[in-house]
Amino acid sequence: MIADRITNIVKSISDTNSDNFFDEICVSLSRAISADFVFIATIDDEKKYATSIAVANRGCTVDNFTYALESSPCAEVSNESICTHSCNIQECYPDDQLLVDMNINGYVGVPLKTNKGHVDAILVALFEKDIGNSQEVETLFLLFSGLIEKELHKSSFVKKIQFTNTIIENAHEAIMVCDKDKNITYINPSFTRMTGYSQDDLKNQTPNVLSSGRQNRDFYKAMWSDINDKGHWQGEIWNRRKDGKEYLEWLSITAIVDEHNELSHYTAFFTDITEQYRAKEKIKYQDSFDELTKVANKKSLFTFIERSVIQYLDYPECTTPAALLVIDVDLFQKFNSLYSHAFGDEVLIQVAARLQSIIRASDIVARTSGDNFALFVNHLINQDSISHFVDKVTKAFNKPFIIDGINIKVTLSIGIAYFKRDAQDVHRLFEKAEQAMFSAKENGRNTYEFFSQRLSDKANTEEAFKVSLESAIENDEFTTVYQPIVSLKHQSVTKFEVLVRWNHQGTWISPVQFIPMAEKFGLISTIGDIVLNKACQELKKLEQMGFTDIVFNVNRSIYEFSTINNDASWLDTINNYDLDPKRICFELTESVLAPENNSCITLLNELQNAGCKIALDDFGTGYSSLNYLRRFPINTLKIDRSFISDMTKVKGDVVLVSAIISMAKALGVTVVAEGVELKQEVDILTTLGCDYIQGYYFSKPLAPQLISQFLTEFQYG
Ligand code: C2E
Ligand code: MG
Ligand code: MG
Repeated sequence: MIADRITNIVKSISDTNSDNFFDEICVSLSRAISADFVFIATIDDEKKYATSIAVANRGCTVDNFTYALESSPCAEVSNESICTHSCNIQECYPDDQLLVDMNINGYVGVPLKTNKGHVDAILVALFEKDIGNSQEVETLFLLFSGLIEKELHKSSFVKKIQFTNTIIENAHEAIMVCDKDKNITYINPSFTRMTGYSQDDLKNQTPNVLSSGRQNRDFYKAMWSDINDKGHWQGEIWNRRKDGKEYLEWLSITAIVDEHNELSHYTAFFTDITEQYRAKEKIKYQDSFDELTKVANKKSLFTFIERSVIQYLDYPECTTPAALLVIDVDLFQKFNSLYSHAFGDEVLIQVAARLQSIIRASDIVARTSGDNFALFVNHLINQDSISHFVDKVTKAFNKPFIIDGINIKVTLSIGIAYFKRDAQDVHRLFEKAEQAMFSAKENGRNTYEFFSQRLSDKANTEEAFKVSLESAIENDEFTTVYQPIVSLKHQSVTKFEVLVRWNHQGTWISPVQFIPMAEKFGLISTIGDIVLNKACQELKKLEQMGFTDIVFNVNRSIYEFSTINNDASWLDTINNYDLDPKRICFELTESVLAPENNSCITLLNELQNAGCKIALDDFGTGYSSLNYLRRFPINTLKIDRSFISDMTKVKGDVVLVSAIISMAKALGVTVVAEGVELKQEVDILTTLGCDYIQGYYFSKPLAPQLISQFLTEFQYG
């Protein structure tokens, strides 16, 4: 009887494939034992749930299900016990609601084990009626459980392999497998994507097909010795694609051994890191080269100098083996403002190229900032050789540059410092060459200057002066004095020039000395604002005393316009004192050449539109007075004292002053003569038609409390 049933079951499963094996065996078992349900279920690792993989209900397959093991007879089965109840199972497991719902009375369950002996599935039969011969059912189940276990192993193994295959096939990394003779046996799709080679291309090929030739034999020797000794190697390697292009890969090779510990395969995993490599190289480049001109930047200049000078440290007798030239392109800003920034960029590119063309391989050119370059010259024979080199630089710049079809001349201000006579470390060397360059600029540009102790002392003194000026601003050490300006037409005092005074620790320091310094250190605007405030204060007091028509001339340095950022602030100050802007005239002074700046014109127009007057100070001296007269909106021109005093001494200077006055009249500009000390000068100026006179002849600058008395008592002549 049981033998027939076994034969039937074996028959029914013998022609099934592994795909429907579980369904088939459940169905045949359920028929053979007349069970209402037969199912195979897998158990989770924590043994909390069972999930069926095949269920037969009275000879037919039905849908799978999952259920909780707690309080059920299946919990015991999953703990390795065979569980058989011929009837009344619900009484033994009163909390198993499923048994109630399914109306189950008989139960047979056997554990199914892995090849390691753990229960990972169960085979269960459920009966609505009592089981006639539960012993027989149990025997049958035990008989077939081995077969089912084997199928379960097989299917889990297949699943694992499928999973691994999916990973390999979809891996972002390229994977290549070689046999022990290094013949390529497998590549994944990423390999094809990265190298261009298909599986067919690589038939009977070894990895040599990828070789770029960039690595030498020693490299490969070391690599294979690592693989053979340690079983593993990883590193960067340049290979070649099918299309011939080289690429950099991060490669990891492992030697695979079989169960007898014999080498069976090699696996290689790699990723293409060419992009990262290029990005890194770019950063390295950007870090050491100037993007625009492609010469070195300041950082790599310093590194270069540091490395170069090591060679000279052993020769204490030679104090000038190398020199640093710091170079400023003269008036570079004008290229930007006259043409365009792109034009300015091109100037810098060509300057860099020209400098590069005259140096030797042992020297370096760098762009250190905006329009500043530096040259480090090695292996000087003596001090004269640097003079020859500077001549070479100057000669190279005699030839004009042609940019956008425009011929331009570029001149340089060059400062030179020697290693090691002037400095023994790169930072100080640069500082000193820079000081020398500033001095060359002050000396009128298009020239060079060597660093000297005198320059260094000057720099130190200037630094100390700067500190004093800053504390003077903080401690309110500035006062103002007022010099009358007499109208020749009205024969009365109509204006005063406001002049700043600095009492520094009991000594009066002349503005001639500190104003240029304030301009150089960028402190001039602050001082200008202090003076304007004091002037407005005094003007307000005079107004309250009844002097309502007096105009104050306040000096402002042209240099301030390059640093100004709040154009309205001068007018704001005047308004704050509730003064009519007409009562202030701004005198534009220039003690150092101011940078070119178009915002200057805008500001002057604004001031003029508000009612202020603009005077051009010290006309005839300075750098470009005529140029300013042409470009700026000027109401008054002040002829410099030097012309006035020479009128009576130097023949011909009367003619010059006369010409200036005529020109001013023609332009509709009024004229003030400065520094008038003699009656003779007053007479000449009156004859020439000068409008105003300022000078010791009428009065020295006055303390503010003396102004009203002076105004009341003034008598022309
Ligand atoms: P400046 O604006 O041309 O001022 C006239 C200078 O000539 C004043 O010198 C004045 O005292 C002097 N002076 C006037 N009449 C005579 C004279 O008959 N004979 C002689 N020998 N000198 C006379 P000070 O006050 O030393 O100012 C010198 C320069 O300092 C000024 O020249 C101006 O350029 C600058 N300065 C003075 N105060 C200020 C200021 O508040 N801001 C700015 N930016 N510069 C100022
Ligand atoms: Mg002045
Ligand atoms: Mg003046």
